[in-house]
Amino acid sequence: MVLIQILCVVIVILGLMMVSVRAQDKKAEKKPAVSSETMKSMSRADIQRALKKIESNFPPPQKMGAMCYSMLPSPDSFEYVCPVDGEKVFYSQKSQAFEQMSELQSLRGMIESLRASAGEIVVALDEHKLCTKCSPGLMDAERYVTLVLQYPDGRMVRTDRVTSEDLRYLIGFFADGLSYKTFTDGRAPLKPVEGRLKQLLGEK
Ligand SMILES: [Zn+2]
Repeated sequence: MVLIQILCVVIVILGLMMVSVRAQDKKAEKKPAVSSETMKSMSRADIQRALKKIESNFPPPQKMGAMCYSMLPSPDSFEYVCPVDGEKVFYSQKSQAFEQMSELQSLRGMIESLRASAGEIVVALDEHKLCTKCSPGLMDAERYVTLVLQYPDGRMVRTDRVTSEDLRYLIGFFADGLSYKTFTDGRAPLKPVEGRLKQLLGEK
């Protein structure tokens, strides 16, 4: 009699366990293995893991881009129009900001692509040092564009004199992981530029 009672209790416990396992299965079914949330927010550990992948993987083959492209003659000066206050500043070839000015349009366009692929990392181009009204009294050498990355944990990484090449590395890192699109529309591995990529991500 006692044996039957014990057996009954065991059967009931087993039954309850089965039900709870099934309920957990159902919960698991609802959530995909990689939720869109984890895809969106790359934690510091995720970034370090992705950088390790570049180090350990055999670099993908280089793909040549267009061999011939027309180089437009560079103008003598660039006019900077501040998006905040409309102030106009001219930068001649003598200025150290000239090269940054020649890239500004592509930097602005590429920051949009980077923003789309960087998920919850807030990316911005800080141009305020190019404007004499926003930043009065700066020396010519202090006028440049800065890339700002702000991580979800509040950590901020600033890179002065960012170039469009830098942004190509970052876009490639977030989109592909192992390669980036070259300025001639080819593809190149990230491995040789890993040091710079780490700097840009604040992982020195
Ligand atoms: Zn301004």
